[in-house]
Formats: sequence, C-alpha cells, structure tokens
Amino acid sequence: MNLLEWVRRAAEMIAAEAERLSRLDAAIGDGDHGHNLDRGFAAAVEALPENATPGRALVLAGRAIVSRTGGVSGPLYGMAVRRAGKELGDATEVDAAGLGAALRAALECVQELGEAEEGEKTMVDALAPAVAAYEQALAAGGDLAACARAAADAAERGAQATVPMQARKGRASYLGRRSIGHLDPGAVSTALLIRALADVASE
Ligand code: ADP
Ligand code: MG
Ligand code: MG
Repeated sequence: MNLLEWVRRAAEMIAAEAERLSRLDAAIGDGDHGHNLDRGFAAAVEALPENATPGRALVLAGRAIVSRTGGVSGPLYGMAVRRAGKELGDATEVDAAGLGAALRAALECVQELGEAEEGEKTMVDALAPAVAAYEQALAAGGDLAACARAAADAAERGAQATVPMQARKGRASYLGRRSIGHLDPGAVSTALLIRALADVASE
C-alpha cells in the first residue's frame, strides 16, 4: 500500500475536520486539537520526499509532525509515525504483516511516551483496539485492506466508547468527573487517521 498517499489523505481529512476536533477539545481541553493537527499534517505533506521508501517517508513525516504540531498530541503522533517508519525499515513495499507491525510499534510508542492505558480517555482508546482488530483480521487471513478496515471500525467504536470515561491523562484530567460525557478529541482524530489508512488501502 502507498503510505505517502496515506499522509496526504490523512492531512485532507484532518483539515476537513479541524474545526470539529478543536470544538471537541474546547469542551474538555483548550480547544486547539484540530488546528494543532492540521498544522502538523500539512507540514508532513510538505516534508514528503519525491523518491523514498515508505519507511523513510514516514520518518520524515513524523519529524515534521513533531516540530510543527502544538500540544501534547504533536510529539505523541509525530513520534508514533516516526516509529512506524523505523519499523518498516527499508522495505520497498508494505504488505499486510508489515503494516500490522508498524501499527503495533506506533501504539507502543504512544504508550511509552504518554503512559496512558486503555480506559483513561485518550487516543490510546482508539489506537489499541484498532491494532488488536488489525491483528485479529490478519490472523484470520484477511488481506491488507480488510485488516485496515477492521482497524478503522474498531478505532471508531473505541473513540465513541470514550464518552462515559473520566479522563486520567492530559489536560482533560484536570476536569475530573466533569470530563465524563464528552468524546475525547485525540481518540476521534486517531479514528480519522486509521479511516484514512483503510480508505487508501481499499483503493
Ligand atoms: P493539548 O492538550 O496539549 O492542547 P491536544 O489538544 O493537541 O494537546 O491533544 C489532546 C489529546 O491528546 C487528548 O484528547 C488525548 O487524546 C491526547 N492525550 C493527552 N495526554 C495523553 C497521554 N498521556 N497519552 C496519550 N494521549 C494523550
Ligand atoms: Mg488541546
Ligand atoms: Mg494546547
């Protein structure tokens, strides 16, 4: 699959949803999430090389996201994309198993840096079930597009499931019980990023 195309599609989807993501963040944070990510992914598109392996392209995109995205989500997403790129190494093609390993590496990176577990109302609540669903579909013999669609569906369910959670990490945790009853913006943006992956993989 073409991961450079994923970066471009992700940037388009984030730009289209930036307003909504920032509104979600305004309810339980500081209202900048969509605009943070929009800036970061626009920079990632700019940083894409003309000719490079998928792994190298993700490393460069991740670096751009780290340097241009504000907020706590910038380093988390940027380092995760970078780590996924490193996991792909110098392979010239990305197959179903390779993408699964890259997604697993991205999740591990987010959890190492942010120390969030599932149930704490963060992007981990979308990413962890997405990776699990991807691996399950892969074990069942699914091709890359089927695995990516399973991951995107699971990420969307995971994001929805953050509504009744109380935030335990990040800015939203300052609200205590008042964080209950709202979608976590980072979980929603993660679901968008995985949906972009599934869309590009299915083409
Ligand atoms: P900031 O809170 O610095 O303004 P953003 O608004 O860009 O940053 O991102 C907020 C999102 O970051 C949250 O919705 C949540 O999903 C995610 N987040 C915050 N802290 C953590 C963490 N420790 N681990 C994983 N994700 C986190
Ligand atoms: Mg914010
Ligand atoms: Mg902020």
